[in-house]
Amino acid sequence: MRRILILFVDGVGLGLDDADTNPFVAANTPNLTMLMSGRKLVSNQQAISHNKFSFVPVDACMGVDGIPQSATGQATIMTGVNIPAYIGKHWGPKPSEEIRILLQSNNILKAISSNNHSVGLANAYPPAFLQQLQSGRRLPSSIQFAFQTVGTTFSNIEDLRRGHALAADFTGEGLQYHLGFEDIPILSLHEAGKRLVLLAQKTDLLLFDCWQTDVVGHRGTMSAAIDTVERLDAVVGGMLFSWCESDGLIVIVSDHGNLEDKTTRRHTRNKVPVLLFGDDHSSVAASINDLSDIAPALIKYLEQ
Ligand SMILES: [Zn+2]
Repeated sequence: MRRILILFVDGVGLGLDDADTNPFVAANTPNLTMLMSGRKLVSNQQAISHNKFSFVPVDACMGVDGIPQSATGQATIMTGVNIPAYIGKHWGPKPSEEIRILLQSNNILKAISSNNHSVGLANAYPPAFLQQLQSGRRLPSSIQFAFQTVGTTFSNIEDLRRGHALAADFTGEGLQYHLGFEDIPILSLHEAGKRLVLLAQKTDLLLFDCWQTDVVGHRGTMSAAIDTVERLDAVVGGMLFSWCESDGLIVIVSDHGNLEDKTTRRHTRNKVPVLLFGDDHSSVAASINDLSDIAPALIKYLEQ
């Protein structure tokens, strides 16, 4: 049985090979470095495919002027349609009505679930977020909206307590120390990666949405950015440690650049990395050039 685990990392592009401005160069990332056979996640890095792993630099601009944004980038990943070209611009952070209609009409989750495959969103959301989403006071992101189109129930704090979901910061520390959920079990970053794999073994396509990478890209210092990259690397380590070839394919993907260039607090036009690990990674990697190629490649993978 083929399965896919997607770790979506918002705002992660391929920047310059410069430790002063690019936290992916400055950070200590043993797991990503091992995957990349010692090479760096930077803009002049060619595609790699070896043994269990592929890396593809992916175009997030897709022929459209301006700076790529989350709503159009995520909608492109979810639909396989070049949404910025379709609506004539990059748009974000939240999807417009026009983008929501496109997501509603078709997306990878709809395609997969209509074929009797299960889909899931691994994030646990705090009660205030879920209330705001339900009341319409908070608009969903394109990824969240795509899950709403297939009726996915969003996990809450209780699901997190039971080990059925993962906190936005991976560990649960933010919920415990900043939002007052004192009984939230704290995971190590390695354990968080392992939890994603455990959850993915019960779902045909499971996605975890990591948005903190983009927030730190906008607001964080270089040292906060390095810390964010190192945390991400540790989670990836937990995923790789517990993932077997028979578990299927791990896909790490982003919607646009941001975190990789600390000379700016804005998004970038840099390419974004797609990292593929596990079963049949190289044939999936070979069919991906820009963000619109991801959904068709993953649907094809699951249907084979
Ligand atoms: Zn952003």
